[in-house]
Amino acid sequence: MSKPLFYELKDSANNMAAAETRCPVCQKTNECAVANQREASECWCMSRGFPPELKQQLELIDPERCLCDACLMFFKQHGHLPELSVNK
Ligand SMILES: [Zn+2]
Repeated sequence: MSKPLFYELKDSANNMAAAETRCPVCQKTNECAVANQREASECWCMSRGFPPELKQQLELIDPERCLCDACLMFFKQHGHLPELSVNK
């Protein structure tokens, strides 16, 4: 017999939450408050300010996920995001 639907929903919700806690650029934890079931107003990104160009790039990479602090700092210093570490 197949598993009750409840467990499948719970599993996929957990997987989604796990992915959301990772930075889409460097795959490190992004410390996003929303992904960790806390208030968005508690998130570190609220006090930083994201440049509009960065928001645009992030939309292309993964609109659902929050960047990490390190990648935001990198963008502000270099004007672009670190290379995606896909082919390493
Ligand atoms: Zn990052």
